[in-house]
Amino acid sequence: MRFIVCFLMLSVFVFAEEPIRFNSHFPGGSLGKILALEKPDSFRCFIPGQYNEAGRNRQTSWFFFRIENVKDRDVTLIMTDYIGEYNLRLGAVPMKASIQPVCSEDGKTWKHIDTMIWDNEKKEAILRLHPKTDTLWIAHVPPYTHSRIFDFVREMDTSPYVRVEVFGETVQKRPLHLLTITDWNVDDTKKVHLFLMTRQHAWEAPTSFIGEGAVRFLISDNPQAVEIRRQAVVSFVPTLDPDGCESGGVRFNRNGYDLNRHWSHIDIRSKNDLQRMPEIFYALKMITSLHAQKPIDLLMSLHNQETGDCLMTAVDTEITKSMMRHFEIFLSENTFFDSTHPKMPIRFTIPEKADSIEALWNRHRIPVAILEIRVEQHPKLNRHTTSEDFINFGNGLIRSMFDTVKKP
Ligand SMILES: [Zn+2]
Repeated sequence: MRFIVCFLMLSVFVFAEEPIRFNSHFPGGSLGKILALEKPDSFRCFIPGQYNEAGRNRQTSWFFFRIENVKDRDVTLIMTDYIGEYNLRLGAVPMKASIQPVCSEDGKTWKHIDTMIWDNEKKEAILRLHPKTDTLWIAHVPPYTHSRIFDFVREMDTSPYVRVEVFGETVQKRPLHLLTITDWNVDDTKKVHLFLMTRQHAWEAPTSFIGEGAVRFLISDNPQAVEIRRQAVVSFVPTLDPDGCESGGVRFNRNGYDLNRHWSHIDIRSKNDLQRMPEIFYALKMITSLHAQKPIDLLMSLHNQETGDCLMTAVDTEITKSMMRHFEIFLSENTFFDSTHPKMPIRFTIPEKADSIEALWNRHRIPVAILEIRVEQHPKLNRHTTSEDFINFGNGLIRSMFDTVKKP
């Protein structure tokens, strides 16, 4: 009898699997409550989301975590609590069947989880996984962490064509970077001025890949890049929300302010505005000062959304409207940008109503557009977009911006 008991204990010791562990305590990581379900190795995972300064507009388009001890196990994760609010409209769900989350065996290379099932009634994404490695990283879209942005900025600083400066700091005192790319041996007087901003919102990591692609192209030996450097000054802000990129934020700064709102009323004489939303405060100050020295011909702020690609702008003169239409044509030729599925022609906002970065037109006559790129499966590529696709997009984007405003 004693022998049998000992044997049973030994069996448990030998055959019991280590429990699956969840971890989101790393830069950019984000995951809420986890419930173990009755079926072995099955869990319901809650997406934390982020609220704005008034406790409204909860947005849930970011999660990033890893699971450990999972090699050769059938793991089921039910991602839940997607329902939030957008522009004060309750019930916003930034997820659907045509958006597949991504996983990675090394935390660096990502692939889409093509076995995902979207339960549209419960608004839950069911991920069935059979990892080949002991650790598997999972995220809403391929992550581009704050340390990667930092490393990229440092690397670009070694290029003779790039000048890196700090134009301000965030709520948590992280530096805000501005890169200026041009051929410094050519006088700036006759150059055009292009301005590119990515990652105003922390979850929109694909825009960071686009920004990286744009700058890598600009400093390359490609003859078109050489020509652009000779004929243009390019200003580039890699992120306006380093705090969110570091801490797994979604859309708002550490005080809850949406960094693509408040542009119509923020006051650079106001101490209160500086304390609440320093990122917008410093960006506005920097952009208007640059514009006073050398007028910005075209400013693009890149964003991601669930459905469709589109361009939004508050410019309202015939010349600037026509310029935006030309830009859209160039962009559709040079990249996978596609405003026709679903049909989303340029959205012209009423200048006085624009509260996003588009307000720079109404306030300072800077021709700004917001460029939204979808994260769902892309009809022009007939598949989900990868980080490499977005890096290539950066190349086509900068050529399109230059072709739109270049001098004859
Ligand atoms: Zn955005």
